[in-house]
Amino acid sequence: MLKRLEIVGFKSFARKTVLDFSSATTAIVGPNGSGKSNVAEAFRFALGEQSMKSMRGKRAEDLIWGGSHSVPRASRAAVVIVFDNLSARGSRPFKIDFDEVAIERAVFRDGTSEYSINGSRVRLRDVVELLAGANIGETGHHIISQGEADRILLASPRDRRAMLEDALGLQIYEFKKHEAAKKLEKTEENIAQVNALRRELTPHVRFLESQVKKLERADALRTELIDLARTYFAIEDVYITQEQLKIVEEKRATEERLVVVSTELEQIADPKSADRGTVQRTEALRKAEHEVYELSGMRTALSREIGRIEGALAEVQRRASVVVSEPYAKVPREELEALHTEVETQIKILAGGSIEALRAALTAIHTAIKIFFTRHSMPHDEYLSDEEDAAHKLEREHITLIEKYTAVSVRLEKAETARARSREDMIALEETSREIRRRILDVAQAKAHEEGERTKAEAREFELTLLVEALERDKQEVVVLGGTEAMAYVALPAAPHEERKMQEDRHRTLERLKIRLEEAGGTGEDIRREHKEVSEREAFLTTELNDLAKSAAGLGALIRDLDTELAKHFSEGLEKVNTSFGEYFALMFGGGSARLALEELETDEEEAEDCEKLNNVPQEEQRPGIEIAVNLPKKKVRSLMQLSGGERALTSIALIFAMSQVNPPPFLILDETDAALDEANSHRYGDMIKNLAKKSQLIVITHNRETMSRTNILYGVTMGGDGVSKLLSVKFDEAIVVAK
Ligand code: ATP
Repeated sequence: MLKRLEIVGFKSFARKTVLDFSSATTAIVGPNGSGKSNVAEAFRFALGEQSMKSMRGKRAEDLIWGGSHSVPRASRAAVVIVFDNLSARGSRPFKIDFDEVAIERAVFRDGTSEYSINGSRVRLRDVVELLAGANIGETGHHIISQGEADRILLASPRDRRAMLEDALGLQIYEFKKHEAAKKLEKTEENIAQVNALRRELTPHVRFLESQVKKLERADALRTELIDLARTYFAIEDVYITQEQLKIVEEKRATEERLVVVSTELEQIADPKSADRGTVQRTEALRKAEHEVYELSGMRTALSREIGRIEGALAEVQRRASVVVSEPYAKVPREELEALHTEVETQIKILAGGSIEALRAALTAIHTAIKIFFTRHSMPHDEYLSDEEDAAHKLEREHITLIEKYTAVSVRLEKAETARARSREDMIALEETSREIRRRILDVAQAKAHEEGERTKAEAREFELTLLVEALERDKQEVVVLGGTEAMAYVALPAAPHEERKMQEDRHRTLERLKIRLEEAGGTGEDIRREHKEVSEREAFLTTELNDLAKSAAGLGALIRDLDTELAKHFSEGLEKVNTSFGEYFALMFGGGSARLALEELETDEEEAEDCEKLNNVPQEEQRPGIEIAVNLPKKKVRSLMQLSGGERALTSIALIFAMSQVNPPPFLILDETDAALDEANSHRYGDMIKNLAKKSQLIVITHNRETMSRTNILYGVTMGGDGVSKLLSVKFDEAIVVAK
């Protein structure tokens, strides 16, 4: 399976050197200091050894050909190990799909290393994993360096356990475990992170939830508001329209009535027409009264004059009677006819006259008769003649006065009649104006009533304007709070038959709903969106957390499974190694016994508990290391330290061989492991090598003849004056020579 080793610039191998390992056993021989161990170290180097010490160096430079007087130093050291990746059974020891696997490592003077597998650059980790899969572990138990045969004896129980696990091929479990543990750690970190995120989110989510609940309550309120608002608006619209029409009609009717009463009032209450009638009538009355007064005065004066004239006449007549003796006298006809005419005239006046006029007429008749008689009874003498003249004069005067008196009486009578009419007129007028005043009062009252109606209608009109404004405001506010859907209501043909109080109640409820909605605040679209986002985020985190927890649990389970498997394989392997170890030991020492045992642990309870908490993964530190117990034949040895160098070499060879036997590594390099053996033991060692070579390829670096004799291929390493190691294939006899 190990095919070839190619070395360039590594340590003393300045030039490219190729070692072919086509046989089960290969011996490398040569004088001291020729570069044999450098070959073993080339293996370590190529397999990814990180310890400079185990390659006998301090810095990377120490691994690179340092140059000599004739060969200049190299800039890099490179080693390639070539494996055959086709086993006899057709399976691939290395888990890659190539028939040949070339693992190469190069180091530069600056200390950097480069790894490649089949020419492709890879990480050290890839190399280590690939090797572990093929049972070539990191602990290098299969490369036993010079003087390190008893390394396993000197190692700590823990390191010993690692070597044993490595030899048992359990490293792959360790790798898997390590990987799972790393993943688990990462997962735990993620869980912590996600938890932190969730913790951060939780109060916000709770807050948003409560907000959304509030919003849902607000939604219910909004629906209520919209329903109520639609009813309210529909009724209010039709109510206002109806009321407005009513008011218009009322106002029109009131105005009409007002025009009627106003016109009437204007007419009846016109001060000019009323005054004119009164003044005219008052003037007429005054005139009539004045006339009566004047005429009365005139008549009184006439009456007094008539009295005086009649007195004078009586005096004249008395004097005449004394003189006159003749009882008869001749009377001219014309005088008699004149008397007759006078009497008839007065009688005519009498007809239809007043008492005053009657009296005046009678007086006139009396006077006419008296004058007639006086005249015709008087003696016709001088004296009588004078007396007669005076009497005539008086009689004429008397007649004239009587006529005047009669005329004045007639006028007075007329004037009195006119006055009486005027007075009646005045009374009638007063009656009429009293009625008018009453009517004015009525009409004015009616007008005032209509004006009151008009004011009322105007007030109502104003009230309706306020209602319209309030409704407009309500609509706007409801739209702001409840959206435009509040306006999607069907107009009513007529206001419902209900009391106005119902609408007022609705309005009050509407106001309350508005206030509550305002308190709830906005439609909350932002809050809802945020709540949705945050909830989704929380749900996402929860899912992620579940996934992580699942994967953590899975990893924990995997680790436990790996541990179980590891423990199982380990204890099984340990048993097998122990059996083999006992046999090899007895063979080497010609008796006695040896076995590996798990050390007893002083467990730190607290620490153990802490570790258990982490997904029940037991910690590496807890696992017991390996102790070696030996029982030499015929000797009482308790401690390994008490063994001789040869005994230590034998014990460790027995153990190495036992481990290799149970789980054979692909190859085993033994660098002068046989150095301390005496002849008899060299022989036994040789036997064991032969036996071991059946399972693993062996490369032995040796000076031992016996060992050389058991190998198939022999390489001789020499170093010339240029300090460069040279390799040559040699025969056994030559090898003996070369080895010296
Ligand atoms: P022995 O039989 O005594 O164990 P050996 O054959 O195993 O000897 P090595 O130890 O492999 O010899 O080789 C040591 C030689 O390699 C020394 O001569 C040393 O000078 C040489 N050497 C080591 N490192 C370098 C280097 N970087 N450059 C050149 N030569 C080196």
